[in-house]
Amino acid sequence: MNNNSYEQLIIGAGFAGICVAIQLKKAGFSNFIILERNGHLGGTWYDNAYPGAACDVESHLYSYSFEPNANWSKVFSRQGEILKYLDNCAEKYDINKYIQLNTSVAKAVFDEATGLWTVTDSNGKVYSAKSVISCAGGLSQPALPDIKGIGDFKGEKFHSARWDKSYELANKTVGVIGTGASAIQIVPAIAPVVKELQLFQRTPPWIMPKPDAEISGFRRGVYNRLPFMRSFYRWRLYWVHEMMALGFTRRPGILKLASKLASFYLKRSVPDETLRKKLTPNYIMGCKRVLISNDYYPALLRNNVHLITEHIDTMNASGIKTKDGVQHDFDAIIFATGFQAADGVVMFDLQGKNGLKLNDAWRDGAEAYLGTSVAGFPNFFMVVGPNIGLGHSSMILMIEAQVHYIMEAMKLMKSEGLKFVDVKKEVESAYNDDIQDKLSRTVWQSGGCVSWYQTKSGKNVTLWPGFTFTFMKRTKKFEPEKYELQRQ
Ligand code: NAP
Repeated sequence: MNNNSYEQLIIGAGFAGICVAIQLKKAGFSNFIILERNGHLGGTWYDNAYPGAACDVESHLYSYSFEPNANWSKVFSRQGEILKYLDNCAEKYDINKYIQLNTSVAKAVFDEATGLWTVTDSNGKVYSAKSVISCAGGLSQPALPDIKGIGDFKGEKFHSARWDKSYELANKTVGVIGTGASAIQIVPAIAPVVKELQLFQRTPPWIMPKPDAEISGFRRGVYNRLPFMRSFYRWRLYWVHEMMALGFTRRPGILKLASKLASFYLKRSVPDETLRKKLTPNYIMGCKRVLISNDYYPALLRNNVHLITEHIDTMNASGIKTKDGVQHDFDAIIFATGFQAADGVVMFDLQGKNGLKLNDAWRDGAEAYLGTSVAGFPNFFMVVGPNIGLGHSSMILMIEAQVHYIMEAMKLMKSEGLKFVDVKKEVESAYNDDIQDKLSRTVWQSGGCVSWYQTKSGKNVTLWPGFTFTFMKRTKKFEPEKYELQRQ
């Protein structure tokens, strides 16, 4: 074996990649590497460093079950604190030495004869690995809007996940495009600083108040001294969120009640009827991600903030022209326009058996068995692959379940001396038919909206249509009978 040969090659050092590394170490593996494209670990929590960035799932649930943090300072922590948590985890489990920063994967090719993957990074360096574990994230590729003339704008412009920290927003006239989860955090954070903010809304989101608060020193002390109190709090959060899955997938009546609450919250927050009408969604709650915020509506009431609902026509050197012919001039334009989520999560050239390319296998939409294994791509595993996203709870729960499943596969491959494991096509197809059947009865498909959960043809390739405990049960054991097993 040369220096660049590994048992496992992990792509991405975010929550998923770090979890894989920690569990590999716990399982006794040590010959692995993590390739991380950024200059720091953290993945989405490194990328999304825009003003106001914070989690919208409670931190005591949005953290590893095996690494609780009694000291979260807020119910919903800010980006910096979450990144620090990940830094601490990497340090505690001695993971940093496995991470190679500033390294993007360009190509990965499987060789059936040797049962090995040959991976090439964007600098041309070549690695060999028995297994490739992609932890590249479902929301890692920013989506820029398809607006004519976008390149002509001469002012400053950047995407929310590529925030230009060196740009001074103070006293500038700023346009923000998009009103999703990112925008509703950015707008209140920058509104007091900028001279004028124009927010371009295409579809109003459903918004609920955010039950956020500082976690007092006393409460943190209790969680430190009496860990069962912290565990109980996490357990309670877990079940409250699981109940929300009922509304999205089985009991739409729950959403009806929730939308009444959201409408009441909107009415109380926005007295002006014309503005309120513009902010009222015209689709069933839950179809798009339900947002939570206490400061978004108040920000829209500021004199220097204007909500523009006229659709964008073109962009030009000085700003944006809307369909009504009005020109809006800006110093800077911020694209809070989301991510290429439904286009698949593997953004490099991946070739499995017989030169099969993942992009070809996924021509009709991304599919995988348990969001983890793709037929024809042996020893290739994904964390947060197709149909693993959640509309109702913490993604860390899904990540841990998938990582557990992958660890079971790693252990079996080692103990049985397997050359490769390749999920059977019929297993993958039957699984996905079932997923699509379940999804067809959810609010995400029938709620009357277009969302990033779907491909252009309307297929939902991003969300898990059920409870997290169902997924945990399904990933408890690796099922060799569902795979073609090739011995050495
Ligand atoms: P998003 O939810 O996809 O929102 C993108 C926004 O841009 C939408 O309002 C969309 O309008 C608008 N848009 C896109 N193209 C446009 C165009 N050509 N003209 C006008 N408007 C356009 O993206 P996001 O806000 O970045 O959030 C993505 C996901 O990331 C979230 O759903 C969530 O899962 C995650 N996230 C989480 C947090 C958190 O935990 N705190 C924060 C941020 C993001 P339409 O609705 O009409 O398409």
